[in-house]
This record gives sequence, C-alpha cells and structure tokens, in this order.
Amino acid sequence: MTPVTYASRAARFRPSGVRSVFDIAMRPGMISLAGGSPDLAALPRDRVAELSAGLIRDRGVDALQYQPAQGLDGTIEAIREVMRAEGVEADAERIQVTAGSQLALQAIATLLIDPGDTVLAEAPTYVGALAVFGGLEAAVAQVPIDDDGIVPAALEETIARVRASGSRIPFLYTVPTFGNPSGATLSEPRRDAVVEICRREGIVIVEDNPYGLLAFDDVPRTTLYARDPENVVYLGSFSKIFSPGLRVGWLVAPPELRARAQLVIEAAIIHASVPGQLLAERFVVETDWREHVRRSTEVYRGRRDALMAALERHMPDGTSWTRPEGGFFTVVTLPPGAPTAPLLDAAIAARVVYVPGSEFMADGSRADTMRLAYSFEPEDRLAEGVRRLGDAVRSLAQR
Ligand code: PMP
Repeated sequence: MTPVTYASRAARFRPSGVRSVFDIAMRPGMISLAGGSPDLAALPRDRVAELSAGLIRDRGVDALQYQPAQGLDGTIEAIREVMRAEGVEADAERIQVTAGSQLALQAIATLLIDPGDTVLAEAPTYVGALAVFGGLEAAVAQVPIDDDGIVPAALEETIARVRASGSRIPFLYTVPTFGNPSGATLSEPRRDAVVEICRREGIVIVEDNPYGLLAFDDVPRTTLYARDPENVVYLGSFSKIFSPGLRVGWLVAPPELRARAQLVIEAAIIHASVPGQLLAERFVVETDWREHVRRSTEVYRGRRDALMAALERHMPDGTSWTRPEGGFFTVVTLPPGAPTAPLLDAAIAARVVYVPGSEFMADGSRADTMRLAYSFEPEDRLAEGVRRLGDAVRSLAQR
C-alpha cells in the first residue's frame, strides 16, 4: 500500500487510556474499577427479548427501512417522557435522536467550534468529550471544581483569561449531575450562578446528563436546561438507564440548532439505528422503566457504600475521595509522595484496574488521582479490588 499521508488533524485522534484499560478489564480474574459500564443484571431480559422480537413482527419492514433523520416520532415521544422525569417539558421540535449522546456532543461541537477556539470544561472532564474537542482542533480551558461542582468565581476568571488571550469561547461543557469522573454535583445556587454567568457572557452551555436519573437520595436537582432553554443544549442517553450497546441518545436544543445538528448527523450516519430507537421506545412505553431505574439505582447505591467502606479500610492515611450522591464514579486522590507513576502497572499485576485521573485532564496533570467506577462489579469484588489497590500502593511505597 502507498504510504498514507494523514491530515494534520489525524494526530489529534489518539487511543484513549480508557479504551485500553477496557481491554485489560476483560482479562480473566481482573476486577474492573475502570469502565463506566452499567449493571445489566437487573434488566428484565425475557421482557426485552420479547419486545425486540415484537418490533420486527409488529412494525414489519419499517423497522428495517431508512426513516426520518430527526428520529422516529414514537422514540421522540418516549424521550419526552424521560425528560419529564428530569423535570423538563421539551417540545418535539427541540429533540434530535442520535447514536448515543457521544454523537450528540460531536454534532454540537462540530457546529460551534472553529479550530483554535477554547472550550471551557470542568477539571476533571469526561475523557470522551476531550477527544471530541481535540479532534475539532480546539484547546480546552478547565475550570476548577470542588464537591459542589464548578466554582463560579473560577469560571469568571477562566472566561476573562481565555478572552484576554484572544481565543474565542464556543461553549462551556459540563456534567453537572453526578459528574464523570468526579462524582461531584453542582449545587442549586451554583446552577443559578453558572447559568447567569454564561448568559451574561454570551457563552452557550452544553449540559451532558447521562446519570441524572441515578440519584441515591430524594434531593430534587433541576437541570441547567430548565433554567435557560435558549442558552443550554442538553445531552441525554439511554446508555446508563437501559443499554449502552443500543447506541441511542439525544440532544435537546432550540429548534434551529436542533435542525442543524440533524444535518451533521445525516452527514455522519444518516440517522440513528431504527431497531435501536424502536427498542428504546418500547422500553419506555411497554415496561415499568422507572421501576427498573429505581432498582438499578438501589444496586448502585449499595455499591457506592461498599466502595466507600473499602476505601476507608484499605487505602493509606491521607488518601481522599469524593462521595457521589448518584451515578457511577468517584475520584480518589492519593497522599502527597505516593508512588503514582508505577501504580497502574502494579494494580494490573495485582488484578485490579482503574483509569488514571490524568486521562481526564487536557494537560495530563493530576497523576495523583484515579477514577474508580462502582457501577459494574458486585459489592464483594469492589471491596476486594480496593484491598488489592491499597496493597499495591503500600508495596510500591516500601520500595
Ligand atoms: N457523556 C458522559 C459524561 C458519559 O459518561 C458517557 C458514557 N461514558 C457519554 C457521554 C457517552 O454516552 P453514550 O453511550 O450515550 O454515547
């Protein structure tokens, strides 16, 4: 084959550490604290099998044919119901069905980012979002967060600094509820502040909310979208409440932006999978989906508790971590001087795997942190995984 001359942007697509640890996580005997995979054991599998057979039986060739690129009417209705559970009444003309929320983010980013722009995001940030922004030749300015999410004063400072550098800001990207990786949730007063700052500064907010329905408490949290539907683009997904393999997600945006996002999606994939959309729709219409979400959230809460207890018990003094109120993840910070560089290899040798915190930083910093997912492994394996991790830290420190 003739040597390929890659476009300059090709170098911006690098293998993510998350995908490579994903492969390691599949090795026999490995305990995975790495991937953000939902627990599918609680899915009513026979019922899903019935629904899936029924969609071809009842919808005939339509289920296998090209369909409108916005998404199927019934799927859009089902998404409206899921949005109602989030406290949002969204008109159908604002909803675009996508192949997972990842493609929704790609579409919005494609429409709003020019090369050389600087996207604002929290520190740390979902690694798949960093991949999208990098691929579109944007820089990323990360805004510090604490246990209550983005610090509004730090957001204002970051905006001023980026603007002073002459770079344009296309949007703020945030996972305000049960963040990935942080596990942190933006407090209600800060939600008001962040929405107000962005509106005042003319900066669109992209609110990525795949975990919002997976709350371990009854505390009401209102979306940023509900606060300012004209300035916030909302990204939603069936991945964490139903199935990630289905690849069905959506975005909610003002009608013109929604219509333009459809054009990007048409250019990329024509439209989201029809059987996938039909199955997602049937999950909402024909199962007690809220009960499924409630039950799986109970499972995740038990696992969060088991992980927290194990961290308390097995990690060296001086280690700290976030206590998530929902979702899949916590970020653990090792004490100063801990041997962070060789830790992942030592952990893998001890048959436990996690994602290094540096993956979630545009500048690769925070090597002293790790993202631990408690969504996938049962409680006893979570505890054993943390025991192995604690042993790995201690044995490296003694060398
Ligand atoms: N955003 C965040 C914050 C996520 O954690 C994930 C999944 N890990 C995604 C987007 C992508 O989700 P989907 O499967 O809907 O593409």
